[in-house]
Amino acid sequence: MNMPSIEFSTTPIRCLELTYRGCDDAVAFACAKCGAIATPGMFGGGPHARAAAQKMAEEHCAQRFCRCGAKISKSQTICRECWDGDQRERDERKFGLADKFLASEYGDPVYWEGHEGSMGDGYFSNVEEVIEYCADSDLTLPTYVWACSRLPFAIDVDMILESAFEQHFEGARDMLSEESRQELQQFLQNWCQKQNIESWQTDYRRAVILEDSGGVNDNDGEGALDEGAPEE
Ligand SMILES: [Zn+2]
Ligand SMILES: [Zn+2]
Repeated sequence: MNMPSIEFSTTPIRCLELTYRGCDDAVAFACAKCGAIATPGMFGGGPHARAAAQKMAEEHCAQRFCRCGAKISKSQTICRECWDGDQRERDERKFGLADKFLASEYGDPVYWEGHEGSMGDGYFSNVEEVIEYCADSDLTLPTYVWACSRLPFAIDVDMILESAFEQHFEGARDMLSEESRQELQQFLQNWCQKQNIESWQTDYRRAVILEDSGGVNDNDGEGALDEGAPEE
């Protein structure tokens, strides 16, 4: 009987198949270069799992390529440039859908990704701060920044109660009246308000247009940010 010999990476073997002696069916696959094993069990079993295991073994040590053709590492699925491009496209789509405000109509904090404002990573206390920041760092003013929404400081009364009753006898929670629950809720609400703590989060439904070019009033998401324009 002429048994095929195993050769590591000298012939274009796509992956090794592991079979029971005398059987044709592969029960597992191994990378032809490093021998790492991939079994259908790792993918939950079944016909799809078999194909997935084979694919994993075939591609285990293979050079990976991004959809643009650039070489990428094993842990990447896409190259940096494509990722940035996708991100930009997503932003432009979001911008197209967003309600647009002029900077003069808006006084709250704003978000500009990739830049450090006085409120942390990307967060500036207002549009003026963005303008100053650009002037100080010799940067071009962005066409728009995102508006931010106030995140109220609040404590969930039911979460507190759940935790408080955790160790108690079954049914203990039912002994607490709805009135008492509401009393606590009101207390927590008042207490939170007194703390004067507020955070802001990016609101991608509202964009703030920076009036650099002297009035971009009739901009309905077209023109300034046409798809494919190398806007920065
Ligand atoms: Zn390998
Ligand atoms: Zn790419």
